Amino acid sequence: MNDFDVIIVGCGPVGALAANLLGKQGLSVTVLEREDTLHPLPRAVHLDHEMMRLFQGAGVIDRIAPQMRDTDGHLHVGADHGVIRYMGTVGQPRPFGWANDYFFYQPELEAHLRAGFADCERVSLRLGAEFIGLEQDGDGVNVRFAQGGHEHSLRSRWVIGCDGSRSAVRKALGVELDDLGFEEPWLVIDAEVDGPVAFPPISGVPASADLQRLSVMMCDPARPATIVPGRGNHRRWEFMLLPGEDDADMMAPDAVRALVGPWIGHAPHTLVRAATYRFHGLVAERWQVGAVFLAGDAAHQTPPFFGQGMCHGLRDVANLAWKMAAVVNDHADPALLDTYQPERDPHVRAVIGAAVAAGRYICELNPAKAATRDADIRLAQASRDGETAHDLIPPIGAGAIMPGSPAAGERFIQPRGADGRLLDDRVGGGWRLFVRSAAIGGETRAVTRIDAATVDDGDAIIDWLDQRGVDAVLVRPDHYVFGTASGTGAGLLHGRCGALALTVEAAA
Ligand SMILES: Cc1cc2nc3c(=O)[nH]c(=O)nc-3n(C[C@H](O)[C@H](O)[C@H](O)COP(=O)(O)OP(=O)(O)OC[C@H]3O[C@@H](n4cnc5c(N)ncnc54)[C@H](O)[C@@H]3O)c2cc1C
Repeated sequence: MNDFDVIIVGCGPVGALAANLLGKQGLSVTVLEREDTLHPLPRAVHLDHEMMRLFQGAGVIDRIAPQMRDTDGHLHVGADHGVIRYMGTVGQPRPFGWANDYFFYQPELEAHLRAGFADCERVSLRLGAEFIGLEQDGDGVNVRFAQGGHEHSLRSRWVIGCDGSRSAVRKALGVELDDLGFEEPWLVIDAEVDGPVAFPPISGVPASADLQRLSVMMCDPARPATIVPGRGNHRRWEFMLLPGEDDADMMAPDAVRALVGPWIGHAPHTLVRAATYRFHGLVAERWQVGAVFLAGDAAHQTPPFFGQGMCHGLRDVANLAWKMAAVVNDHADPALLDTYQPERDPHVRAVIGAAVAAGRYICELNPAKAATRDADIRLAQASRDGETAHDLIPPIGAGAIMPGSPAAGERFIQPRGADGRLLDDRVGGGWRLFVRSAAIGGETRAVTRIDAATVDDGDAIIDWLDQRGVDAVLVRPDHYVFGTASGTGAGLLHGRCGALALTVEAAA
């Protein structure tokens, strides 16, 4: 007999979102968190529109959005202090409803996520509860943890290890990490600054770009650095440590002031913290062992050059949550969960690969090679005109999607209606079948069938269908496209993925 559907180990941002999403679906959940209090210092500062949509679906967006700062993208500056790469979003469409990039303060986000599930009857949080080990049998997982000086155990159908980069769950499973071959030491400095950042002269800044609203990467071989405009007065600097520099020396107050002083000028400010990190790319060889899943930093770590580390983890648990809910609530075949790693692992590796590639050019310390790099990137930039950070995030390539179906695995759009309300708020979450006209499709089961013509700003959906030459699109609960179809009448969209048949035979 299991005590819970799911035990989540670790209540960082990833574990906390998992608790919200699972609790909202009515699953019984307990979260084991080693610490008694929230981690007080910010690590992640950037997230993208997909995370905002997940917070929206989890019912926590109203808490979170007011403290977010939407920004205009990323700017990379070369050795000669001229722009080499611009991924700006000014004037770009917002097909997913939210701005592409937001900056935030991680302790605030985590507090909001915990508050989001605090009232959920079927979700409990055990603070000061440290995971020790687990044993699995065919029916569930026995989890052992220490709390209040005693060892306890609980059983659940599934466990999600969201316990961060040093994951004890991962170690208990004996899962190794693939090293993607990048490791560089950086000093991270957070400050509250009452005034704008004092940038040095930078040439070639596009007319639409406002440096105060961009994440700026100074690819200067003298000292690569990143400057990020956080929420409110929060500013983040990240400086690469040069060969021979000592971590402790560089974290000393005088060294920190020497580095950030020129950027702060005379503005009143408070230094919040300075800490060194090793930026690296690591991915777990296995994300699932039996009924135990790894998510977030427990499963992968990335250099933070595109601010996607936490975002990967939030996508992980969004992927798991709807599948677990489908098994518990809709009696879907539990084999559906076997699509977790095939969907998430290549996706994460692709984005970490882009961050590692950017890291290699950002961290170039040889002036001659940096000059060549700048020339090459400027040449390539012509073909990348209009590029945004969104373009780095690929569709899902395989898993619980209709193989061979146009647009399968893409993220589906979220237009705003004339009243400013977003699509998901108007039509709801879960499985959605958008059809070009009422004449298309048959009965639906476990799927909300929506005639695009009746949706406020349904034109955006009709345009989406037109661009892909299809008449209907079936969207998963995590907003990725399951599949599309053309033609009219019964049998429009059959679930071709064996594990998903129960849920998706809907439109037959
Ligand atoms: C300098 C820096 C900048 C970054 N910038 C960005 C960015 O801009 N955007 C972005 O998306 N990501 C960024 N990241 C990455 C981001 O911070 C992490 O990916 C994210 O915090 C991982 O969340 P998590 O919940 O998986 O793990 P964590 O946040 O590490 O949380 C793990 C939780 O598990 C608990 N725990 C650990 N062991 C146990 C145990 N045995 N039992 C019970 N509980 C346990 C911990 O106490 C903790 O609460 C950055 C990281 C760094 C270091």
